[in-house]
Amino acid sequence: MNRVSRRAATVLAALVVVIAFGLPAGAAGSPPVTLPKDPDGLESPVTLPSAVDPPARYIPQSACWPTDKAGSVKLRDLLRTTYKVGGGGGISRSCKEGVSEHSDGRAIDWMVDVKVVKEKAAAADFIAWATADDGRNARRLGIMYIIYNKKIWSIYRVKDGWRTSSGHTDHVHISLSWAGARGNTSFWTGKVAGEDYGPCAVFHKLRGALRDAPRTTPCPALVPLVKTSARGDRVFGDKGSSTVKAAQKVLGVKQTGNVDTTTWKAILAYQKDNELRQTGVLDQATWASIQPSSVKTDAVSGYTRAKAIDWGLDRGSATLKPVTFGKDVAILQIALGMPARQQNGVFADVTEAKVKKLQADHDLKQDGIMGAAEWKALAADVG
Ligand SMILES: [Zn+2]
Repeated sequence: MNRVSRRAATVLAALVVVIAFGLPAGAAGSPPVTLPKDPDGLESPVTLPSAVDPPARYIPQSACWPTDKAGSVKLRDLLRTTYKVGGGGGISRSCKEGVSEHSDGRAIDWMVDVKVVKEKAAAADFIAWATADDGRNARRLGIMYIIYNKKIWSIYRVKDGWRTSSGHTDHVHISLSWAGARGNTSFWTGKVAGEDYGPCAVFHKLRGALRDAPRTTPCPALVPLVKTSARGDRVFGDKGSSTVKAAQKVLGVKQTGNVDTTTWKAILAYQKDNELRQTGVLDQATWASIQPSSVKTDAVSGYTRAKAIDWGLDRGSATLKPVTFGKDVAILQIALGMPARQQNGVFADVTEAKVKKLQADHDLKQDGIMGAAEWKALAADVG
């Protein structure tokens, strides 16, 4: 081979390697700012175990949960006290800005401007420390990704290094996993965190219900809504809506037309009382409950209480129990004589209490499970 064709062969071989295996780590994009070799980083409040938390998987915003999570607050405060710069940035924001972990209270904007020498140096130190050694410290904090100065780095694509992004020249954006956001990772607890998938949507077109406890299993497959509504979602941050005013009347809060903190809390309380998924959103299931006139499709229309009980008697030994979702549950709710606003297809506390009451009245074991004996008891009551 002559020199030119030898060089061509080398380039070709390298190309084949890149296509087959992705960019080698050394070839990944350059960081957003020059990083120090020996960063100081953040000091953990606990003795760190030798084991490191697994890299956070990418779990984008799935709920509308605009409260600052404990781990987010601790990280923001530690950044400020360690580097003495970067105040003013927020964690939680409205749910109107598209997919953003800020709407879950698990993203931090640390206000350090690349044009301010001291702030840029602080950002560089933190970023160098967090991303070193394939993101060892990022894993301890549950960092999903960091955006700064038009570049993004994510732990779930750690071999790709820094990739092109946009904006973020006056702050570092840090998105956390649920374990990190809740402050459960080893940096805070001294123990490697378990898996936490966070809130899960259950129904199509609904957001995840808020839950404080970690979710250790993946989210289930989505099921169709039992009742759809002609109304669109109204989320935290919505303003000046006449339909929100109508909902506020039912919720018993001031009719401002804005989904503010008071209204958001009232939505959650209404959802809890009425066996809806506690999403904090005026979503289709909630509209169908609050405004029956807005119902567009109803999978259980035509079911009278008698028909619903017949349906149950036909089920034989098949059971229904908490926490399940869907049309079957809505038929059970009709059979139990629950009000229309609670016939949502969610089998949680309210429905369980009704089943247990039925069991108590008939000397059945109060396990909250609706089986053949319970259907017979119900038929005897109503029959
Ligand atoms: Zn941000």
